[in-house]
Amino acid sequence: MLTIDAWLRQNGASFRHELEILAREYFGISKATFICGSDRLITYNLENYLSDALVKLKKGTPLAYLLGYKEFWSLEFQVNRNVLVPRPETELIIEKSIELANPGDRVLELGTGSGAIAIALAKERPDLTITATDISIEALEVARGNALKHECEIALQHADWFESIGDKWNLILSNPPYIAESDPYLSSLKMEPRVALVSGPTGFEALKVIIENAHNHLQSQGHLVIEHGIGQAQVIKKKLARHNFTKITSHKDLANINRIVTAQWISPEYG
Ligand code: GLN
Repeated sequence: MLTIDAWLRQNGASFRHELEILAREYFGISKATFICGSDRLITYNLENYLSDALVKLKKGTPLAYLLGYKEFWSLEFQVNRNVLVPRPETELIIEKSIELANPGDRVLELGTGSGAIAIALAKERPDLTITATDISIEALEVARGNALKHECEIALQHADWFESIGDKWNLILSNPPYIAESDPYLSSLKMEPRVALVSGPTGFEALKVIIENAHNHLQSQGHLVIEHGIGQAQVIKKKLARHNFTKITSHKDLANINRIVTAQWISPEYG
């Protein structure tokens, strides 16, 4: 019989860190307590649990799906295979939205997934009126659960981008699917919902729908905040300029990669 620590060393391989987190979760204890207890003998049940998790991790299942949650903007969001795992770089959307939103603004988030963006923004800025949409009913269920968990009053709506979106908004946000169908990187994301990652062959399909239609749904002087993939900034910025957006600005993520673009739309009739 092995100690927990020895079992992890022998079996954990490159997933030792993830398995340690799962073992802690299994006991429901803190890291410090776990380290003190890791010289205990591993139980049959824990060994089964960790072996099963290891198989899933090796197949590419994100740790967040095994835990059932992911931290984003220092809040814990429930996640499952119907939603993309929130990425740290997406926190940039929250930062920029906080800067751009005026008190009481109406905000629309397109493709909310777990609801992480809309809910984190609602927690920071309770003055905003936020609607979050998704094409996936299953994702909206997850977002609903997270809104309840965080006691957030956001409206959730089933929608395919702007279809069935009637009102005008001061701020439109989105982290749309922007990975090209043929991108080899996709093979490392195969457990996450394809609809949240890919919208067509080029990676620009959803971005295009959003940019080409946003002006019909923005109040004059309203802003658009969109996340995009590596190397997509220039095309997006040109497209925004062609659709009469101004103040088109790229923002870098923590890895120093252009990750979001913000832009303002001013109605030609304005002033
Ligand atoms: N940022 C995610 C990734 O690179 C992709 C998310 C998306 O397509 N919106 O893993």
